Amino acid sequence: MDQQFDVIVVGAGNGGLAAAANTAKAGCKTLLLEKHNLPGGCATSFKRGRFEFEPSLHELCSVGTEERPNTVYQIFKDLDAKVEWRYEHDIFRTILKGEDGYDITLKAGIDAFCESVDAAVPGSKKSVKDFLALKKKINAAIDYIYKMKGKPKGLTMILKHADFMRVAGHSVEEVMTALGMPEKAQNLINTYWGYLGVPTDELNAMHFLSMLYGYVTDGAAMPHHRSHELSLALADVILKHGGEVWYNSEVTKILYNEDGSAAGVVANGEEIYAKEIISNIMPNAIFNMSDPDKVPEHSLKLANAREFGISVATVYLGLDCTAEELGMKDYTIFIKSDPNPRKQYDERLEEGLYIVNCLNRVVEDSSPEGTCTLFFTIPIFGEDVPKDLKPEEYKAYKNAVAKKYIEDTEKVLGISIMPHIEEISVATPVTFARYLGTPEGTIYGYKLSGWDSLMARTAAEKTDFTVPGLNYCGGHYTRGDGYSSAYITGETVGKRVANRVKGGV
Ligand SMILES: Cc1cc2nc3c(=O)[nH]c(=O)nc-3n(C[C@H](O)[C@H](O)[C@H](O)COP(=O)(O)OP(=O)(O)OC[C@H]3O[C@@H](n4cnc5c(N)ncnc54)[C@H](O)[C@@H]3O)c2cc1C
Repeated sequence: MDQQFDVIVVGAGNGGLAAAANTAKAGCKTLLLEKHNLPGGCATSFKRGRFEFEPSLHELCSVGTEERPNTVYQIFKDLDAKVEWRYEHDIFRTILKGEDGYDITLKAGIDAFCESVDAAVPGSKKSVKDFLALKKKINAAIDYIYKMKGKPKGLTMILKHADFMRVAGHSVEEVMTALGMPEKAQNLINTYWGYLGVPTDELNAMHFLSMLYGYVTDGAAMPHHRSHELSLALADVILKHGGEVWYNSEVTKILYNEDGSAAGVVANGEEIYAKEIISNIMPNAIFNMSDPDKVPEHSLKLANAREFGISVATVYLGLDCTAEELGMKDYTIFIKSDPNPRKQYDERLEEGLYIVNCLNRVVEDSSPEGTCTLFFTIPIFGEDVPKDLKPEEYKAYKNAVAKKYIEDTEKVLGISIMPHIEEISVATPVTFARYLGTPEGTIYGYKLSGWDSLMARTAAEKTDFTVPGLNYCGGHYTRGDGYSSAYITGETVGKRVANRVKGGV
């Protein structure tokens, strides 16, 4: 018999879990469908030998604490989802290789952050403070725009939100330069472009600021038991509120009503119907599973016009020595061969920028006693994987990537990693394409730049994808990639849909 639900959520990534938890909590009969045998998507863990690795999370921003909750903390708290949070108060250490190189650590906390940048670039403090101060002004403007239901008065915007108007259309570097920030200070802070996948001469200032501010004010947070802990906590909420989670259930088709509205899905060969669908997977994937006649031309053109975001290659190491014995003193180190983010991006295949994390520095017991783990992340695109690579050459390709970055880190940090490797696992955009089901293995959804910036997406949300009853959330949606963005869009869309199902508008 056909199954009937209020809401079907497709994909149990961060966004899908947050959406389903909210619809279930609101009393909607909810079904979450996930193609894998466990929840989380990117937010998961995997085991090799005696190590349980964190596959994706370096740093979660905008979490906060019980005393000073920020958005992500509040989302979990509102759902009564239990997480043991751990914190890191050095934002990152960054090492520029070469003769004019540097080795600088930036601290969390507005004052500590500004002072740590100023210590490295004397005279930069005021401009850094001014840049961060824009965040509150931007928030005030966005609150006003929301209050006016997306139709703010032009004069009010000019008179009361002039800084927002000045910043909204500009890149990070344009705004920093306008504030008189020295180039070295810009480059130092903009090391963080790697977390959004777009270099800062292209990335919208407000978007970057929103992430930076989250890390600066609250430091970075991560769960005690890898990101799998977050996913399990949300899956529990769904079940507790009577929702259903079906694993090993890949959605293969989207069903439509005669009038073009979404009617349901096919999973495991079964037709399942619902009043509303929330997709945690990208519109491209949804359209590929749809009757072409049912996909509005505008939505199809939009999906095709968007550029896919960056992916990564990652190397996970389980070592037979402690972080102290290894000589790893920091949690996050960005290693780069040029100070400029654009050059780092362009030279991404030549160690332009990569990140090394040692989780034991924040979660001491994240690996067995006497051991530690290292996690290397190298931002690259799916198209950077050699096109002519044969299946039998793939292992050698992965080994070569791992060797190159391990050796470089040994040289830069003056430590010896190779003799301590007990377990190794390497992932590439091919791995992420297969595991997440994303085109070209993008882990960041669509590239956020130019006409497709966070602001443009937010402003056009209602008119972009217009199939009635078919909603989206997750890293590919309005706020762009990242755990916090996925949770926020999941919560927002989940609540919106629940309200409609319950008879609201
Ligand atoms: C290596 C790496 C490092 C990262 N580092 C950070 C970081 O430090 N900080 C940060 O904030 N973000 C980081 N990110 C990005 C972040 O993980 C993602 O932006 C975010 O988790 C995306 O969540 P999502 O909700 O869009 O779902 P996804 O994680 O993309 O999950 C989608 C889910 O849908 C399922 N699915 C796909 N197709 C189907 C189908 N047809 N039927 C059923 N289910 C389906 C998939 O199996 C998956 O579970 C990183 C990502 C990676 C990969």
